[in-house]
Amino acid sequence: MNATRWNRREVLGGVLAAGALSGAPFRPSLGQQPAGGMTERSELLIRNGYVLTMDAQVGDIAGGDVHVRGGAIAAVGRGLNAPGAQVVDGTGMLVLPGFVETHWHIWTALLRSLAGDRQEHGYFPTSRTIGTFYSAEDMYAAGRLAAAEAIHSGITFVHDWCHNVRGPDYSEAALRALEETGIRARFSYGSPTAASNDASIDLRDLTRLAERWEEHANGGLLTLGLAWRGAASAATLRDYEVAKELGLPISVHANNSGGGVIQQLADRGLLAPGMQIIHAVWCTPEEIRAMVANRVTVSVSPYSELRIGFGFPVAADLIGAGVTVGLSVDTTTLSGNADMFAIMKAIQNIENGRARNEFKMTARRVLELATIDGARSMGIGDRVGSLTPGKRADVIMVDTRAVNLGMLTEPAHLLVEAAQPANVDTVIVDGRVLKRGGRLTSVDVGEVVDAAARASAGVRRRSGWSWPSQP
Ligand SMILES: [Zn+2]
Repeated sequence: MNATRWNRREVLGGVLAAGALSGAPFRPSLGQQPAGGMTERSELLIRNGYVLTMDAQVGDIAGGDVHVRGGAIAAVGRGLNAPGAQVVDGTGMLVLPGFVETHWHIWTALLRSLAGDRQEHGYFPTSRTIGTFYSAEDMYAAGRLAAAEAIHSGITFVHDWCHNVRGPDYSEAALRALEETGIRARFSYGSPTAASNDASIDLRDLTRLAERWEEHANGGLLTLGLAWRGAASAATLRDYEVAKELGLPISVHANNSGGGVIQQLADRGLLAPGMQIIHAVWCTPEEIRAMVANRVTVSVSPYSELRIGFGFPVAADLIGAGVTVGLSVDTTTLSGNADMFAIMKAIQNIENGRARNEFKMTARRVLELATIDGARSMGIGDRVGSLTPGKRADVIMVDTRAVNLGMLTEPAHLLVEAAQPANVDTVIVDGRVLKRGGRLTSVDVGEVVDAAARASAGVRRRSGWSWPSQP
């Protein structure tokens, strides 16, 4: 926060409010932030919404209230009494926990919809070539755009799988973007993109970050992990060992376009509780059993898996076997956007279509994947993922009074089948209002979008990358 600007604003506010020179302190209204600072935490009472707590013990509460105090869920129920709280009208709103996103290469946000139509312009050559020309400022611009899009879409937690750390200033810039927007996130530290597997990641920088994490944790909102490249070499195994010594969670892509990798990890004793495997599209029954036995979780990203031709996600098979599954964006270079409503809808349709069964994957079950199961898959199910008193207050409100909704029928079905990011009226993270009345409060969207567009054009120009139909 910038003290000079803050004071000037206070003074101006006092002068402009004629007759209000009583010395009353500047008190930001709901969701309003002091210039350059984090949005204030508010004590809130969301009144008379349709509350989907996603807590199996509590269930849904029609005409329900949610009391948020000190950044936590203080209470849920009907007719709550909270005299000091600002009242937020929940009439016509679906109130639920924020979506938990479980794997996203956020730095690729500058390459939205840039994977082309021929082999040489595909996702991997595109991202790897342009990625080597990224500056630390590009990481920051991408991070701000992605975090803003996440909040806009009702995503309150992202897993930033950062496989383009080209120096300590790159990880710092990516973290600063997450911190400034106020989102909850895990930052998983990886290699520079296109780096050889014969070189370890910057283990000194990773260790430095881990040992001084308090400086980056943003009051507990941000955590650190390893974006692991798998057991490809002695160097990547060293990355794994150091992360384990530092007590960091490990995440790895496996069985994307063929089987066998998960089996190799199992055979070498490298699967461990809390490890996350990404995609797991092609799994043998033995591999699924190994994941269950080792309490490994899986992140499924339907729009990258389908778009790039890995295959159909197998979320229902994994869940049926006892694997905890979360949903993810992966990369907007392939998925185009970060729309968790669309991701949920894709999963339900894929699973019902594969099973030729209208009832294979219920809307309620998919909604669990996007909230409480996603949180459990990231090891944060005790902190977020449901509106349970005592948990941190990550809450969203979806306005049903929109042309694509328009009525309150079955709430879980509405969320999975009909709702869109534009219907997200309010987003609260850790008790801070980051979106209100459909507008972001912690980010100047115009400025963030302009900066991202400039950074995208700049890095594409420096890399010399283009394909025929691209302007
Ligand atoms: Zn990925």
